[in-house]
Amino acid sequence: AAAGGPSGTRQVKLERECELRIEVSPDSPLRLRVLAGTAEIFGTEIAPEIWLSFPPGLKFAVFSWYGATIEMDGATETDYTADETPMISYVNVHAVLEGRRNRAKASPTDSDLSQGPRVIVVGPTDSGKSTLSRMLLSWAAKQGWKPTFVDLDIGQGSITIPGCIAATPIELPIDPVDGIPLEMPLVYFHGHPNPGPNVDLYKVLVKELAQILERQFAGNAESRAAGMVINTMGWIENVGYELLLHSIDALKANVILVLGQEKLFSMLKDVLKSKPNVDVVKLQKSGGVVTRQGNVRKKARHYRIKEYFYGISNDFSPHSNTANFSDLTIYRVGGGPQAPRSALPIGAEPAADPTRLVHVTISKDMHHAVLAVSFAKEPDQIISSNVAGFICITEIDFDRKKITYLAPSAGELPGRFLIMGSLAWLET
Ligand code: ATP
Repeated sequence: AAAGGPSGTRQVKLERECELRIEVSPDSPLRLRVLAGTAEIFGTEIAPEIWLSFPPGLKFAVFSWYGATIEMDGATETDYTADETPMISYVNVHAVLEGRRNRAKASPTDSDLSQGPRVIVVGPTDSGKSTLSRMLLSWAAKQGWKPTFVDLDIGQGSITIPGCIAATPIELPIDPVDGIPLEMPLVYFHGHPNPGPNVDLYKVLVKELAQILERQFAGNAESRAAGMVINTMGWIENVGYELLLHSIDALKANVILVLGQEKLFSMLKDVLKSKPNVDVVKLQKSGGVVTRQGNVRKKARHYRIKEYFYGISNDFSPHSNTANFSDLTIYRVGGGPQAPRSALPIGAEPAADPTRLVHVTISKDMHHAVLAVSFAKEPDQIISSNVAGFICITEIDFDRKKITYLAPSAGELPGRFLIMGSLAWLET
C-alpha cells in the first residue's frame, strides 16, 4: 500500500447532510461508487453502483442530502466525513436563483424582466469560489436550465488553460471527473497567469467578453433567463478589488456572493448600496476547501496546459507540426512606449500603451512558449477577437528557419495571428 491515508476496499456510511472529504493519493487513482442512497459531487448526482475513477491528487467531497453508503477502492492522502457544511445555505441561494429564472422566463419580451440572475462569486484565494460556482451551475442544469459559466480567474480557471478568461453554456451537470466539456468556449487570451503584467488588458478583455455575451443573450431568451454564474480571482486587495468592481459593472452582475470574508462583504455592500437591483450576500466558506500554496498552483497550471493537449485521461492525440518562420506572425500585447520620446513635450515620459501590439521576431526565448491562435482577420482586430486555441513551441531551427509546435490537431492553424504572453509549458 502507498504511504499516506488508508487504502484497499472500504465502505463509508454517510448520514443525511454530511459529506465525505477526500484527497486522492498523489501516486495512484481512487475508485469510488455509491452502494445505497443518493450522493452528489459538487452539485452533480452520482449514478448508483457505477465505479468512478478519480485521478491522483484530486481533492473533492461526496455530499449526501438524505444519507448514502459509499465504497472506495484505492489509496487516499486523507478521507474523513464532516457533518458541518454550508450546503444548506448554498442550496438556499440556488432556490432564490431558480425563482428569478422562472420570473425571467415568464416575461420573455420585457427587456429587463427577461434577464435571469447574473451571479458573481467573489472571495479570497481558497475560499471555494470555483466549487460554489460549479454547484450552482450543476444544480441549475439539473433543472433543465442552460446557464452561462463565465470564468474570470486567469490563474486557476476551469474552462481552458491559464492566462485566459472564458465563457461557456452549461447544459448538463458538470462531470465530477472530466469537468467542463470543451465544446466551443468563448475564450480571450491575456497571456499571463495573473493580471499584474497588464491590468488594463484584463479590463479590456472582460469588456469584450461582456459585449459578446450581451449580444448572445439578446438573441436567446432561454440563456438570458438562465443567467450566468461568474467565477473570479482570489485577488481582492487594491488593484484586485478594483478589477472586481470593474467585472461586476462590465457583466452587470446583480447577485454578488461573497465567500469567507467579512471585510470584502462590507466594502462591496457599501459601494453597491446605491444600486437597488444588486444583492450582496455573505456566505460561509466550507471547512473542506483545501488551501493551495504557490507551488501547488503552479503545478495545477502546468497540468491544465497538459490536459489541453493530451486530455484528462490522456485520451487526446496532439500533433507535432512544422512551419517556416515566415508562416507565423506573432504579436505581444502591451509593453513598449506608445510614442517615441522625440514626439513628446520636453520632460514628459512616454507611457506604455497596454493594448499596443508589438510584433515579435522568433528568438530562443520562445522555446516552450504557449501561444494563442487568434480569430482576428487583421492585426487591429487582435485585441477584440477571441481565440481558437493554443500551440506550444517545442523546437526552433534557426539554420533552416523552421519552427516545430504542438497543436491539438494536425493541419492548418485556424488563424494567421498568434499572441504571445508569458505562458510556457515543458512536457514532462
Ligand atoms: P482560488 O484561490 O483558486 O480562487 P477557490 O476559492 O476557487 O480557489 P476552490 O478551487 O473552489 O477554491 O477550492 C479549492 C480546493 O478545495 C479544490 O481542490 C476543491 O476541489 C477543494 N474543495 C472545495 N470544497 C471542498 C470540500 N467541501 N471538501 C473537499 N475538498 C473541497
